[in-house]
Amino acid sequence: MIFPETYHSEAKKYLAGGVNSPVRSFSSVGGAPPFIERAAGKYLTTRDGQTLLDFCLSWGPLILGHAPAPVLAAAQAAMERGTTYGIPTQGETDLARLVCDCVPSIDRVRFVNSGTEATMSALRLARAFTGREKLIKFDGCYHGHSDVFLVNAGSGVSHLPSASSSGVPADSIRHTISVPYNDPAAVQAAIRQWGDSVAAVIVEPVAGNMGLVPPEKGFLEQLRDLCDRHGILLIFDEVITGFRLGLGGAQAFFGVTPDLTTLGKIIGGGFPVGAFGGRADVMALLAPDGPVYQAGTLSGNPVAMAAGKATIEWLKEHQEVYPKMAALVERFAVGISAKTAMTVNRAGGMFTIFATNQPVRSAADARRQDVGRFQRQYHEWLEAGIYMPPSMFETAFISTCHTEKDLAALMDATRPW
Ligand code: PLP
Repeated sequence: MIFPETYHSEAKKYLAGGVNSPVRSFSSVGGAPPFIERAAGKYLTTRDGQTLLDFCLSWGPLILGHAPAPVLAAAQAAMERGTTYGIPTQGETDLARLVCDCVPSIDRVRFVNSGTEATMSALRLARAFTGREKLIKFDGCYHGHSDVFLVNAGSGVSHLPSASSSGVPADSIRHTISVPYNDPAAVQAAIRQWGDSVAAVIVEPVAGNMGLVPPEKGFLEQLRDLCDRHGILLIFDEVITGFRLGLGGAQAFFGVTPDLTTLGKIIGGGFPVGAFGGRADVMALLAPDGPVYQAGTLSGNPVAMAAGKATIEWLKEHQEVYPKMAALVERFAVGISAKTAMTVNRAGGMFTIFATNQPVRSAADARRQDVGRFQRQYHEWLEAGIYMPPSMFETAFISTCHTEKDLAALMDATRPW
């Protein structure tokens, strides 16, 4: 399936790069991206009337598929009462109560408009709480696009960090230490070296931005233990995994409780929402109660709150969907690995088919994929009417609308290694 270059060319005349987020541009896979006219359930419809079976699902928010009736109804009803007030509403308290009830680490929460805002605010809070400045993160994890997180130090902890984007001042990343994922010894070494000046360790408890890489047994527990022993706050970035691996996210799934949690995607029900929350004593530092400033004109937007609430309430009432989605993905992963010999990492309703037959447990492993092969496979998926995330460093998602038949179609369209 080749999408017309005309739409993208026109977009490029007015929009920087023709897109509002780079990975949508198809620069990683070649060709022009589809332009979407509408979507329902698991299907996208392009401007040219082509139908695509969607395994990208807007990069994770759409756990109920596109345009689910209860979420649309809640958002429409909210919209008719006004789109924003900049004054408190009951909807904010209602969604906050749901989040606090579901996510083990969250005593208090604050809503923002994106995952990027959530992580940068959580870090500011951790720095204020500990009175320290350094941050430990993991190579290949993505925490949004604020300066401080845009570091991939490569292997080993002793290398000086270098920015992953130009325009990031060296001073902004002076305190960022990036170590390999699934490598507790590297974290220990970093803590030995910088010890008392580390404010936070931030981690995707299941990494989704180097392709999907689950934590190895004991990895999250060791992070918790190291943080406890050194007075460091542990931040789980659950922007992807929150309400995706279960109502309690990865922290409930793995039984490891962080001090702070960042959320996004699903909690907005398809609208722009992020959140950060955690221990009451840490959250108490946030303005207006405390000295840590954070604010947002559209934060807690009533339409977005209504959509998030409708989504989470539906999930609460239908919790059986979580093991069902996980079982569907597990059967698919086992089958496709047998057919293709490719590495398929998975967790709950998420998976990545890596263009390698070697295990992938870190960003370095993920970078060893065969790029050409991935690109060819990507266009074969499109030919078969399947829309996968257009990059080999992403996770695919299923929704509650996807069935065994849909995963069989993906399997049929995937070539053996
Ligand atoms: N954290 C994680 C784990 C993410 O996957 C993302 C985005 O994909 C973000 C943070 C940033 O969220 P946003 O794109 O809403 O700013």
